[in-house]
Amino acid sequence: MSPMLPVFRPDAADVLKDDKARKSLKRYFAATEGDLPARFQVCKLVDVKADLSADDEELWAAHESGLKKFRGMLSKVDEGEVKLEGVKKPKISLLDLKIELAKRVLRYCYFCERRCMVDRSAGKIGVCGVGEKPRVASEFMHYGEEPELVPSYTIFFNGCTFKCVFCQNWDISQHAKGGVEASAESLAGMMENAHKQRARNINWVGGDPTPNLHAILQALKECKVSIPSVWNSNMYLSTEAMKLLFGTQDVYLTDFKYGKGECAARLSKVPRYFEVVARNHRLASADSELIIRHLVMPGHIECCSRAILEWISENLGPMVRVNIMDQYRVCYEATEFEEISRRLSTGEFTNVLEIADEVGLENYII
Ligand code: SF4
Repeated sequence: MSPMLPVFRPDAADVLKDDKARKSLKRYFAATEGDLPARFQVCKLVDVKADLSADDEELWAAHESGLKKFRGMLSKVDEGEVKLEGVKKPKISLLDLKIELAKRVLRYCYFCERRCMVDRSAGKIGVCGVGEKPRVASEFMHYGEEPELVPSYTIFFNGCTFKCVFCQNWDISQHAKGGVEASAESLAGMMENAHKQRARNINWVGGDPTPNLHAILQALKECKVSIPSVWNSNMYLSTEAMKLLFGTQDVYLTDFKYGKGECAARLSKVPRYFEVVARNHRLASADSELIIRHLVMPGHIECCSRAILEWISENLGPMVRVNIMDQYRVCYEATEFEEISRRLSTGEFTNVLEIADEVGLENYII
């Protein structure tokens, strides 16, 4: 059943009749409307033949086979050939295997491409500053997201793998020790509460959710209801972390900000940005459905906006859902960087919309 929608977001109801949105997010809409289960509920029922005490290589191989099985089962579920109620609960599921692998990654943390290789389970911390247990800054029903997501039950984790000098949430992203410690069980409780309140989805964000992947997977296991899961992230995950996400997320709500130049290193202190984030968009698109956010930055139209929109059109096709955002504000340390120490001009934003048309994007929103 569709959730009750607040009257102040009529577009959240109108989007149900938007053919382009429905086409690019077909399965997600079916899951929000209760016609299909959330992907993680399918993942829980995929039987894997694995001994969880085996070495890493063996477990990753079992994970690969489990993913193939998952895709087979998902298409049967989506075609109506298989009902989850009729599937026997496996001794070890694909989700159990993911949880075990995530625990191992945590011991030499490489959830993101910074690859700090620190043992977070032993109290060490890496660049993001996030410890073993997640810390939650806030959780609430969010009415400010894209219309197809609203109302979205959003969980803001403290800590981030980036150091953006203009971060609007810097008090959360750059304070990994803030907020309140949360167990996987309490995260699952938040999911069940969101479902009860008729949220369209659960939305994992921060900061960035990546350092808490192990706890999020565990929460998906504990969660007893079917609610679409939205991975709201900067997409700087390692390939291994991307593989662990496969089969668990209904929507990748991504942030694609910088082109190929030095902008990312300068403004977010992150190396190899474009290479990593573009790769992960390809992986995400092969796994599930996508909404890409592009925040237009003043003075970064050709180097970043054009480069990204061209890449999206060439690599993901014209129908991918893209939110072109003009909400840039001068925040945090942005005043120290001349070109971003002002608001975006109307001319710059119009120029970016022209670029979106020029490169053939057909499903962008503003
Ligand atoms: S998640 Fe944090 S600790 Fe792990 S690799 Fe990334 S920055 Fe380092």
